Formats: sequence, C-alpha cells, structure tokens
Amino acid sequence: MGVPQHRRSKSRNRQRRAQQKLEMVSFASCPKCQEPKMPHRVCSSCGYYRDREVVKQD
Ligand SMILES: [Zn+2]
Repeated sequence: MGVPQHRRSKSRNRQRRAQQKLEMVSFASCPKCQEPKMPHRVCSSCGYYRDREVVKQD
C-alpha cells in the first residue's frame, strides 16, 4: 500500500486548497420569453429551443 513519505506542509496544503472553489452556475435567458434557462437546453417555461416549439407546454 502506498504510504506518504513526507508530511505536507500547511503552506502546500493551503496552496492546493486555494484552487478549490465553486464556480458560478451559468445560465442564458430565453430569447422568446426572457426567462432564465440553462444553455443548450429547451426553455422550461415556454418549451422553445432555436425558434421552434420542441416541448408542448400547457
Ligand atoms: Zn422561453
């Protein structure tokens, strides 16, 4: 089994952990109803994608 040969310093640990951060969730607004939607996905409020109705909404 692999066992670490050296204890990592506080500085090294902190340098690595400084890179771990959450990224903002990306979203685009629907060109038809201006509702926020996920990019490259059918709009959940009007069911449109690329100027045509893909999913029927009631
Ligand atoms: Zn829409």
